[in-house]
Amino acid sequence: MRAVVTGGAGFIGSHLCERLLASGSDVVCVDNFLTSGLHNIDHLMEHPRFRFQYLDVCQGLHVDGSIDALFHLASPASPADYLRLPLETLRVGSTGTWHALDLAAEKDARFLLTSTSESYGDPQIHPQSEDYWGNVNPVGPRSVYDEAKRFGEALTMAYRRSHGVDAKLVRIFNTFGPRMRPDDGRAIPTFVRQALEGQPLTVTGDGTQTRSLCYVDDLVGGLVQMMASPHGGPINLGTPHEVSMLDLARWIIELTDSGSQIQLVPRPQDDPEKRRPDITLARELLGWEPTTDVEQGLRETITSLSNRLNQDAPAGRE
Ligand code: NAD
Repeated sequence: MRAVVTGGAGFIGSHLCERLLASGSDVVCVDNFLTSGLHNIDHLMEHPRFRFQYLDVCQGLHVDGSIDALFHLASPASPADYLRLPLETLRVGSTGTWHALDLAAEKDARFLLTSTSESYGDPQIHPQSEDYWGNVNPVGPRSVYDEAKRFGEALTMAYRRSHGVDAKLVRIFNTFGPRMRPDDGRAIPTFVRQALEGQPLTVTGDGTQTRSLCYVDDLVGGLVQMMASPHGGPINLGTPHEVSMLDLARWIIELTDSGSQIQLVPRPQDDPEKRRPDITLARELLGWEPTTDVEQGLRETITSLSNRLNQDAPAGRE
């Protein structure tokens, strides 16, 4: 198989490239390092079946030769990134996704959009199943991401319905693992950085809000399985295991053996109260189930973040 991975230098994309190479595929990784850097894929550059194309997918997406599968991951993903890059986020979710679907149609390739649990906004039902239409504030600060992804979902389904593209989409819930950036603003890297630096861990609100945490290896397995399946989705990928932010902060303090305290700070606007996927469809249609022990995953993530902090690399750029 020859696969294209847009956003392949990012956190999830770099793990996906590794997984595809390990299974014998040829991989074309496309990225413009908007929210990542060469450091995530440096170890793959000499691989004989790996090719890197530095490209902004909003400018058009051209790849020579045949393609069997196109994984479209390119998009800022952490709130800190999409809030500082609102127009880039809207553009890559709309124009970028359009170009990616055009390429899939031209090459007769399967297509997978990595959408998000943010499509459900601040959900009013728990857990969220795929038939829930969501509760999104269309004009709030987070809308640049949520609505871009919702547009991408509509576009993917339109190509599937009317252009005969084998296009599909998954909604990814909070995923964590090595190669998250210490400054990406998401809870785990933030807490780990603060704990390792002996700073207070800043928990927003009263810390009772929950997230479900899926380890990146499990998630990447789900992406590959979805691409190989005949289903169009949407299909939720995530773990139903919920953790409150307060418990997560305490857990990280324990695992890092840190003397840090916890400090409560105001919640950001439209921050969802609860997030938990219903993964019945993924179980039934793909036979997919996250299996990594969350604590083991946290240990791997802490090691990676600690190495990154020690290297003192400029975050998010190289
Ligand atoms: P990331 O920021 O680490 O990776 C995104 C990659 O896309 C980066 O390498 C970035 O440089 C690249 N990119 C952005 N705009 C681009 C453009 N115009 N042209 C080319 N490349 C571009 O984020 P991630 O956490 O790896 O997320 C990957 C995908 O998964 C995203 O689409 C995101 O929305 C989705 N997702 C992630 C999570 C999560 O928990 N990490 C949850 C839900 C959905």
